[in-house]
Amino acid sequence: MTRRVRCYDCESTFELEARKRCTCGEPLWFDVDASGFEWPTDGTAGVWRYADVLPVADSVGISEAAGATPLVRSPRLDGYAGCRLHLKLEGQNPTGSFKDRGSAVGVSYAVDVGREWIGTVSHGNMALSVAAHAASASLECAVFVPEDTPEERLELIARHDPHLLQVVGDYGRLYQETLALESAVEFVNSDTPLRVAGQKTVAYEILEAFAPSVPDAIALPVSSGGQASGVWKALLELEAAGLIDDVPRLYLVQAAACDPIATAFRNGTSTVTSVDGNETIAVSIANADPPSGTRALTAARETGGAVVSVPDDEIRDAMWRLSTTAGLSVEPSSAVAVAGLRRLARDGELDADEDVVAILTGSGYKERFEADSESRRIELDALERALETLVGA
Ligand SMILES: *Cc1c(COP(=O)(O)O)cnc(C)c1O
Ligand SMILES: [Zn+2]
Repeated sequence: MTRRVRCYDCESTFELEARKRCTCGEPLWFDVDASGFEWPTDGTAGVWRYADVLPVADSVGISEAAGATPLVRSPRLDGYAGCRLHLKLEGQNPTGSFKDRGSAVGVSYAVDVGREWIGTVSHGNMALSVAAHAASASLECAVFVPEDTPEERLELIARHDPHLLQVVGDYGRLYQETLALESAVEFVNSDTPLRVAGQKTVAYEILEAFAPSVPDAIALPVSSGGQASGVWKALLELEAAGLIDDVPRLYLVQAAACDPIATAFRNGTSTVTSVDGNETIAVSIANADPPSGTRALTAARETGGAVVSVPDDEIRDAMWRLSTTAGLSVEPSSAVAVAGLRRLARDGELDADEDVVAILTGSGYKERFEADSESRRIELDALERALETLVGA
C-alpha cells in the first residue's frame, strides 16, 4: 500500500502529508503499483473490494456502505442515446451521490493516521457526504460552503451536525488555500488524492462487471475533474494489471453555460483556463475554474474520447427521459451524461451497437423540480367511474 503521490503530468513524487498539489501546479494522485492486481475472489462489495489499490484498507463507520451501486441496461433509452446504454446508479450511495466513495476513503484514512478533523470545500453533495461520513467515524468536520448556498442544501448538510461555515469571498481561492495551509484538518476537496483514490472504484466496478469484455465508452459529467481523474486512473491501473486490453473512450460532459474543459477541447489547447460561467440547472457541475480541468482534458484525449457541452433544454429533456422511460430520478448534473451521449451520437461519434456506460452521479430526490405531469382530483364516492374513465372502459 502506497502513501506516495505522483503528478500525472511531470511525474514528480511526494509524500501525501507534504503536498496535495505538485510543484508544477497540477494535481496529484496516489502512486499505485497495480501490476499484480487481480479481480478479487472474496465477497467484499463496494469501495473496499479494491482495498489492494487504495491508500487505506479498513473502513470506518458508514464508509462500509459506499459503492457497490447497480449497473443496469436501459434498452428503452438506446434510441435516444444512440448506443447500447448502461446506467451506473451512483445515486444509490448512502448520501445519494458518488462523492461517498471519496469521502469513504478520506474519512477512513484520516482515522487511520490519527487525525481528529476532516474538512471540505463544497456547495452541495460533497459537503453532505463528508459531513455524514465524519459523523459516523466520530471525526470533527469542517464544511466550508459559498455564501450563497441555498437554504435547503444547508439544512441537508446540517443534519449531520458539522461545523458549517459560509464563506464570503472567492470560492476558487478558498479551495486552493485550504489545500496549501498547514492545519490539523485533513481536507478532502473535489480533486485531492484521497478523493480521487475513492472515486476510481466506480470504474473498477464497471470494468469488473464487463470482464472479460470492456465497454466501448464511459460518459460522465465533469466539474472539478476529480471524478474524471479517478475513472482515468482506474483504467490506467487496470491496463497495467493486464486486466483490460482496450481502454474505453472517456466522454466528459459539461453544461454549455459553464464549460471551460469543453472549450479547451474544442479549441485544441493543451491546458484549461477559466471562463465566465453563467447559471445552469446543473448546479453541481458549474465550476468555471476547475482545479483538475487539464487532467480531465488529458484523460479524454488520451483515451480517444471527447469533452462536449449541452444546453439546459437538452439537460432537462434527458432528465425527463430518464424519469419517464427508465424510472430514474436524477439531478440535472447527472442527466448531463445522457444528454451528452445523444449529442455525440448525432455528431457521428457513437455507433448504435456500442456498449456505453453513463455514470448517473447523483440522486434526484434531494431537490424539487417541476414535472410536466399534472394530478387530477376525484371524489372518493366517484371511484368506480374514475377507474373506468382512467382505463377507458
Ligand atoms: C460533484 C458532482 C459532479 C462533478 O464531479 P467532479 O469530480 O467535480 O468533476 C457531477 N455530478 C454530481 C451529482 C456531483 O455531485
Ligand atoms: Zn507536476
